Amino acid sequence: MAVIYYDKDADLSHLKGEKIAILGYGSQGHAHAQNLRDSGLDVVVADLPGSPGWLQAEKDGLEVKTVAGAVEEAQVVMMLLGDNDQPPVFQKEVLPHLTEGKALAVAHGFNIIYNQVIPPSNVDVFMVAPKSPGHLLRRMYEQGNGVPALVAVHQDFTGKCLQRGLAYAKALGSTRAGVIETTFQEETETDLFGEQAVLCGGTTALIKASFDTLVEAGYQPEVAYFECMHELKLIVDLLYEGGLSWMRYSISDVAEYGDLTRGPRVIDKRVQEELKKILEEVQDGTFAQECITEFRMNRPRFTALRRKDSQHLIEKIGAELRSMMPWLEKK
Ligand code: NDP
Ligand code: MG
Repeated sequence: MAVIYYDKDADLSHLKGEKIAILGYGSQGHAHAQNLRDSGLDVVVADLPGSPGWLQAEKDGLEVKTVAGAVEEAQVVMMLLGDNDQPPVFQKEVLPHLTEGKALAVAHGFNIIYNQVIPPSNVDVFMVAPKSPGHLLRRMYEQGNGVPALVAVHQDFTGKCLQRGLAYAKALGSTRAGVIETTFQEETETDLFGEQAVLCGGTTALIKASFDTLVEAGYQPEVAYFECMHELKLIVDLLYEGGLSWMRYSISDVAEYGDLTRGPRVIDKRVQEELKKILEEVQDGTFAQECITEFRMNRPRFTALRRKDSQHLIEKIGAELRSMMPWLEKK
């Protein structure tokens, strides 16, 4: 079972008197910076001069500097740029000022695990990864609550790396909810697998295949859209609120019988074998290597695949139907 830390296990004094640089003022950055500041810590934000993030941070009453300037004066540096932007910024603006005993922190392990960011051996390296988007992290904190987070130590130079990480998580409000100890490897590999198998890859492929099946059989695409895409939200909300049994309690007996007898035929032995292969490609670095190479070559395959899916019939039909739903914001 997992080790879970709460408020009593974390002590803010491990970060008192230290300056904390939050690099990037996007989804995560704005929440981290403000929660830490409101917890009484000394925060400096870094973003691109004149960018929307820079201006917003100033509006929120925070001190803002360039990345190099912020890292130079900070003892703890949390990297909250987008994952693709991190490696070059780290090399040029962070590394030269990441001197002995400082701490480098991240909210996702990809760049560390796959050696896109290589910290020097004389600093602490930890992860605090809230399990929510930034706006919820901020809202929960303001309400006196917190969102659960993961904490992990990659490199303990000072002997106090975990305490620093836990103090950081406490300042975010996350120890109010519970902070689960993990490793960089576990966080990174499960994150990639989850988005490939279920959250993004598996779900979008299943939606398209089911929609195509109905349309090819002669059913109206509008009706197929409702069945295969629109109603997914109702089911996911129920799963999120109360798991499989709460979802099944809320649907009809006919739906539940179809679920129990047909679901395993959709996800059969062959699919399970493929899931194992997908996990192996994550674990042995094949996926990361492919992804890094693709992005370096300016994303030829990525762009082509994205274009192809944007032209799928379900996208055209969906846009028309969603314009009939006044409660939705235009995307
Ligand atoms: P965002 O894209 O929302 O924010 C990135 C920020 O970095 C923006 O403010 C952007 O500036 C700024 N930025 C980009 N390039 C530079 C640069 N060269 N110098 C300075 N600032 C720059 O990212 P997220 O908050 O979504 O993600 C940050 C990290 O948190 C990632 O590691 C991600 O994996 C992790 N994470 C994200 C979660 C989420 O739900 N979003 C959940 C848990 C972890 P601007 O746009 O103003 O130009
Ligand atoms: Mg993810």
